[in-house]
Amino acid sequence: MTSILNADLHCHSVVSDGTLTPEDLAARAKANGVELWALTDHDEIGGQNRAAAAARAQGMAYLTGTEISVTFADTTVHIVGLGFDPDDAQLAQGLAATRGGRGERAHDMAAQLAQVGINGAYEGALQFVGNPALISRTHFARFLVETGVCKDTSEVFRRYLTEGKPGYVPHRWASLGDAVRWITEAGGMAVIAHPARYKFSANEEFALFSEFKQHGGRAVEVVTGSHSAAEYATYAAMAQEFGLAASRGSDFHSPDESHTDLGTLPLLPGALTPVWELLSDRILR
Ligand code: AMP
Ligand code: MN
Ligand code: MN
Ligand code: MN
Repeated sequence: MTSILNADLHCHSVVSDGTLTPEDLAARAKANGVELWALTDHDEIGGQNRAAAAARAQGMAYLTGTEISVTFADTTVHIVGLGFDPDDAQLAQGLAATRGGRGERAHDMAAQLAQVGINGAYEGALQFVGNPALISRTHFARFLVETGVCKDTSEVFRRYLTEGKPGYVPHRWASLGDAVRWITEAGGMAVIAHPARYKFSANEEFALFSEFKQHGGRAVEVVTGSHSAAEYATYAAMAQEFGLAASRGSDFHSPDESHTDLGTLPLLPGALTPVWELLSDRILR
């Protein structure tokens, strides 16, 4: 396998904050020409068996996936895991602990929204939840759009639910070291997700990449739906500087909300080592 492969190794289903089932995502990926796919639900692997079976039914190669929420330098950072054993007990426990605080957080978010006159947000968000263990800001965003408070989910995240805005509840997620260890010890590979999203200073970003490597992290997303073309180049250079493999993924959530569809991003720059080259023995066919 080379970088000339339509791999899409980052997306979300109803098992976290996507709107499609694993089966519908597999069909959409296949229709868009994806050759190697991974479903990476937030803090959850409950959809992995369905996704792997659906990929096989579509004749598409598959890597197990998840996206773990981490707190690093007081910022939420996402670490994608690929190619792990989905039956690994330590990974399952780590993910359960990571998503465990989401219910209480959601109640706190709703209480804050009520203070600015938006009532019933907890129950409203729950209507959009496919997995009660995984209530996320995205579900609140859908409620605020449905009730006409905002015109789309981007407006929600500009006006609500983010730092300094109503409905933002600081939360402590997994540590970077734990997340990388759970993935790696389950036989998988840890990947820094969409690094441009964090708005770190150069020093903080250097610390993230260095500590990630020290913990055993091996790859970084270079081509993602969250990056501009200029950022592809920036993080291609970072991958080479830190000796990390590169990943590619749309971060697709929903046909109505996501601007990047499955399988439609540019291919990885040729000089990089694709993460799937290091995971060839973990690919399910
Ligand atoms: P949570 O894990 O509950 O904090 O929710 C994080 C999710 O919110 C992300 O995975 C995205 O799906 C969504 N999200 C965060 N920021 C934005 C944004 N600016 N626009 C749209 N969706 C966002
Ligand atoms: Mn999401
Ligand atoms: Mn993410
Ligand atoms: Mn994601």
